[in-house]
Amino acid sequence: MSLKRLRTGFSIAGIICISVGLFCGARYMGWLEQDSSPLGNLARFVYGPDVRREMNRLKIVKETTPEIPRITAICYHEVRPDRREDSLNVDPETFRRHIREFKEAGYSFIGVNDLRQYKTGLKNLPEKAAFITFDDGYADNYNYAYPILREEHVPGIFFVVSSTVGGKNRMTASQLREMQANGMEIESHTVNHENLAAMNEKEIDFELRESKSSLEKILGKPVCVLAYPGGKADEEVLESVRKYYDMAFVASVSPERKQTMYTLQRYGVFNWNEHIESIFKNR
Ligand SMILES: [Zn+2]
Repeated sequence: MSLKRLRTGFSIAGIICISVGLFCGARYMGWLEQDSSPLGNLARFVYGPDVRREMNRLKIVKETTPEIPRITAICYHEVRPDRREDSLNVDPETFRRHIREFKEAGYSFIGVNDLRQYKTGLKNLPEKAAFITFDDGYADNYNYAYPILREEHVPGIFFVVSSTVGGKNRMTASQLREMQANGMEIESHTVNHENLAAMNEKEIDFELRESKSSLEKILGKPVCVLAYPGGKADEEVLESVRKYYDMAFVASVSPERKQTMYTLQRYGVFNWNEHIESIFKNR
């Protein structure tokens, strides 16, 4: 082999090594985790979804409040193929991709009873536990999200605004019952979807008690989990919630903020979250 050919060979090998090194380094630094560019997709293809950021958050949760379940709770709103410009709407194929990426990243999907059994010491949770929730009770949840959840064998938790059941663009009582019969869980998102923190004690009590009892009538089972409208709750709200519910969810995530069973944190999902690692950047 001529010296010239040898030199060319070394140069090409050098360039390949440097490129691979830069690629691995960029992935290690987390620079490719949100990216839907060809490089980001290549990183996802080689390594799978990057959930290290979320694993770090769960580690902090465990250190600060060991009694709180280590779960990755996710909050969707609308799931429909049109209205892509609506920030709270995720199109169904993106939703399905999220579910598959959770699986690919080693997640198991859990429901309300798993949390309850964890709380009472009856059950451990998987290290990577995803809790998939939907707020507000939109009709598209039944039309698009529910069939995907069934196909993928995932329990979905639907927080429904009780006064809107059967209303325009909302799920009906019989749809809720059908979903429940097929492994979905229906819980409360109050009666009127108004800010509880801005109400007096009597109004708060009504929103919590009435939504619980009317959903229980529809579903024929106890309703003991709440999602705060707008994620807002103060001490007065929490005190009333404890009377009727055994756990409640906010709609944001902050590793620094202490959680209790009444302020369980969830990641909101928006229309720009193409992949799950991008959801983990939402605060
Ligand atoms: Zn809501």
